[in-house]
Amino acid sequence: METAQIDTNQDEKQASDNVPSNDNRLYDTVIIGAGAAGIGVGISLLHAGVESMLIVERDTVGSSFAAWPDETRFITPSFPSNSIGMLDLNSIAIGVSPAYNMRVEHPTGQDFADHLVFLADQFELPIWDKTNVTGIEKIEDEFTIKTNNGSIQAKNVIWAAGEYQYPSTDLFEGSGLCRHTSTVSAYSQLEGEEHLIIGGYESGIDAAYHLSNNGKKVQVFDSACPWGEETSDPSVALSTYSFERMTASNFGERVELHGETKVIKVEHSDGVYSLLTSDGQTFTSTSPPLLASGFDGSHKFVSHLFEQREDGFPLLNENDCSTTTDGMYLCGPSVRHDGHIFCFIFKYRQRFGIVARSIAESLGIETEDFVEVYRSWGMFLDDLSCCGQECLTC
Ligand SMILES: Cc1cc2nc3c(=O)[nH]c(=O)nc-3n(C[C@H](O)[C@H](O)[C@H](O)COP(=O)(O)OP(=O)(O)OC[C@H]3O[C@@H](n4cnc5c(N)ncnc54)[C@H](O)[C@@H]3O)c2cc1C
Repeated sequence: METAQIDTNQDEKQASDNVPSNDNRLYDTVIIGAGAAGIGVGISLLHAGVESMLIVERDTVGSSFAAWPDETRFITPSFPSNSIGMLDLNSIAIGVSPAYNMRVEHPTGQDFADHLVFLADQFELPIWDKTNVTGIEKIEDEFTIKTNNGSIQAKNVIWAAGEYQYPSTDLFEGSGLCRHTSTVSAYSQLEGEEHLIIGGYESGIDAAYHLSNNGKKVQVFDSACPWGEETSDPSVALSTYSFERMTASNFGERVELHGETKVIKVEHSDGVYSLLTSDGQTFTSTSPPLLASGFDGSHKFVSHLFEQREDGFPLLNENDCSTTTDGMYLCGPSVRHDGHIFCFIFKYRQRFGIVARSIAESLGIETEDFVEVYRSWGMFLDDLSCCGQECLTC
């Protein structure tokens, strides 16, 4: 038996219109999280013929996207390329194009949350919202999923609880004095004329871009140099969208980038925040420094159900299933295989079909046609030897 409590600090019973008062069913699959990964893999399960399923969501569909700062937009562009069999980069389901639905190339978080709600309705996905998962245990062949709305039984569980709601904040002395970018509802509402940003990857550059457009002076610190990385993998280097933004005149005039500069401490005294770097420099501002430091991710809450890789991410077999707990799957940006990082939608969506096939076959469902269709849409990545290729002409 593998068991543990998941302390997500949201265990009070919440009102939901779609949670039955008594549910004794044994589901073939329960998905935890109704973000891009949970909704996407739910649709794949339906396509594979797995109908006995439930999606459990602690807030509402797409709530992480809805919580993005107002100004933040997708860096990956949407384009209605589906007509020639090239799935829109931001699509989570075969045949679906957010560009066609939304008529926007770089959606905001709220745009995409609305898109996920639309898909959940269109596919009539069974979802319990406002239902927080607080524990998962497996006894013999059945999982028991504990929630604030009672326990749920399942043969398979897909963990798709994402990263956004689990930010990295414990980083150095005084990091608790800083404010994580995931808590900013709009950069236009941030007070102060000068801002210090710790982290220079996508979120840090995004924050610097919007603040500089609001006339603020910005300093960005990163222990590496994401704007200088020589790789074409956007999981490691900045995206073209961010590089393009960095050429804006406001950015050039108001943003100073400090690469290879590690922040070791933040202090607050007499209304002034002081940021100290490992090379002995001190920078000050009257507003809390912004942490654009990324996310710990939710996978640590189910670490008892997986072996860990050296980097702390769950070790997965070729079906993205746990190597220690049969029937326990992972979907979304925390999926890792060797050196491959599946942190963008266009990457991790290619594993939905792999998970759906594995579960369908475990239930005795024939999957040949499903696999053929998913493969033809580039939604069935079972050969990872093609990944990691650099663009020779970039
Ligand atoms: C600023 C920013 C910009 C980005 N831009 C892009 C981009 O341009 N292109 C791209 O491909 N990716 C982008 N990403 C990454 C993308 O947002 C993530 O990959 C995506 O949100 C992951 O989807 P998910 O479904 O795994 O997680 P989420 O969207 O976070 O969904 C997880 C869901 O699980 C629920 N949940 C969490 N814990 C529990 C629990 N205990 N019980 C029940 N439910 C729970 C949450 O409420 C949430 O709704 C960006 C990320 C950020 C932060």
